[in-house]
Amino acid sequence: MMRDRNAIIDEIRNRHKYDVIVIGGGASGIGAAVESCLRGYSTLLLEKHDFTKGTSSKSTKLIHGGVRYMAQGDLKMVREALRERGYLLKNAPHIVHDQPFIIPNYRWWEGVFYTIGLKFYDLLAGKFSLGKSVHLGKKEVLQQLPGISPRKLRGGVLYHDGQFDDSRLAMDLLHVLNNNGGSALNYAEVMALEKEDDKVTGVVFRDNHANKQYAVRASVVLNATGVWVDDIMKMDQPGHRKTIRPSQGVHLVLKKEFLPGAHALMIPKTSDGRVLFAVPWHDHLVVGTTDTPINTSSAEPVALEEEIRFILDTASAYLERKVERSDVLSVFAGLRPLAAPKDNSSKTKEISRNHKIIVSKSRLITIIGGKWTTYRKMAEDMINMAISTGLLPPSVGNTKEFPVMKSPAAEGPYRLYGENGMEIAALAEQDTRKKALIHPDLPYSWAEVEWICKNEMVLHLEDLLARRLRALLLNARATSEIAEEVAERSAPWLGWTPEQAAAETVAFRKLSESYILN
Ligand SMILES: Cc1cc2nc3c(=O)[nH]c(=O)nc-3n(C[C@H](O)[C@H](O)[C@H](O)COP(=O)(O)OP(=O)(O)OC[C@H]3O[C@@H](n4cnc5c(N)ncnc54)[C@H](O)[C@@H]3O)c2cc1C
Repeated sequence: MMRDRNAIIDEIRNRHKYDVIVIGGGASGIGAAVESCLRGYSTLLLEKHDFTKGTSSKSTKLIHGGVRYMAQGDLKMVREALRERGYLLKNAPHIVHDQPFIIPNYRWWEGVFYTIGLKFYDLLAGKFSLGKSVHLGKKEVLQQLPGISPRKLRGGVLYHDGQFDDSRLAMDLLHVLNNNGGSALNYAEVMALEKEDDKVTGVVFRDNHANKQYAVRASVVLNATGVWVDDIMKMDQPGHRKTIRPSQGVHLVLKKEFLPGAHALMIPKTSDGRVLFAVPWHDHLVVGTTDTPINTSSAEPVALEEEIRFILDTASAYLERKVERSDVLSVFAGLRPLAAPKDNSSKTKEISRNHKIIVSKSRLITIIGGKWTTYRKMAEDMINMAISTGLLPPSVGNTKEFPVMKSPAAEGPYRLYGENGMEIAALAEQDTRKKALIHPDLPYSWAEVEWICKNEMVLHLEDLLARRLRALLLNARATSEIAEEVAERSAPWLGWTPEQAAAETVAFRKLSESYILN
């Protein structure tokens, strides 16, 4: 169970200073906070909205080396990501699993080309390989990837990568942080940096929930705010030049019946040179993504019409059944925090997905770029940088070996929650109302709702329905329909009055409109 918010605010008031303050509650910030607290540093994480409200809940849900980065020749990054994939599969097996993919081939040379390429991918993975890549004939592709169109199909290549639930893994990591003495607050927005002798000594943040402001000191402040890093860097140096160029990626969620098997589809080169995935996820199909340079960083980026069209057309070209707008259950968009190129080129596809750490003159440490897959390595690099800069006393980390859950996961429908799944299963056994699904089209029970409300720092209905449960991303219409009942039944656990529950329903329904495709 996560600590009560008020207890954390009291701790902040009473504590003179933390060793580490992390700004940003996405993959990079949560990873850094966990690394810091497991190494024995007192740690506070501050997130402006809810945890993973930014990019970290809008990914393609892959824990992967990145086949396309291999094609771009970035072998060091691919090898690092494959190693991290291996650690994650070992340390979080309740939530990260092996996902077989098939790349269909349409021209005579593609079979040989992709088989050799993916054999090399296996080689780069070394002992972390999840299984051998193999060439498949047309008949085998049609058997293993039902739903793929047989038109012009010659064969395919099967390879393995990892898949996960992004914001659920973040919640597990926040439980680790909490259980090891670290503190994390959502709806806590850093408004300014505190300085002495031009060195950063802490932050001023506003508790947006209670509308109160606090100053808190730290030996080191880490800026892990994704596409918002420049805002914090501007607080540090008003004349700071942009380091980030956001690039938007959109996903459409469809019924699983478009690709009903266990294998995912990977198109390495679409008509305009992009990669397209169609991956089974929570008994649905996630299809994406795009790569569109964007000038503003919004917490709720909206899919552009041309991005939706591109995904619908491309998916229809490869699947047996045409994908219509009316088939889309949900649409979501995220922003990649890519490093801005120095020459102002607009081709984000060519901008490195590598992470980069910047130590400013004031000793603010900023991380840019990276991937969910490599969050642990990014965190290790950030803390090591704080040590080598002399801001923290030396320590040795070992998150490579640190299991995210202490005991084995509950089997069955609550496996995703790891050891906490046992508590949810026990709740579900209490009465049939709790065991029931919240909606026939959503894979979540009322027992999950109750457990999450009591344990995972939910402040708004959106936190529950978009990120603790993934209902909004799986089926936006169904989630909007059930929002009122969820708000009413959750109200006693969340301390809401009937008026607050009604206001939460209205706000959630408004948000869900941008996830529904009309
Ligand atoms: C479309 C898409 C698909 C992707 N797919 C994959 C994938 O399949 N696998 C993979 O490994 N990676 C994937 N990635 C990359 C991965 O999702 C990102 O690298 C990662 O989520 C970035 O995390 P972050 O913590 O740096 O940023 P974010 O998740 O954006 O977190 C930054 C946080 O900082 C907070 N913040 C901002 N300002 C303040 C402030 N003043 N005070 C406090 N908090 C603040 C924000 O609210 C936000 O929550 C994908 C990215 C995109 C866009």
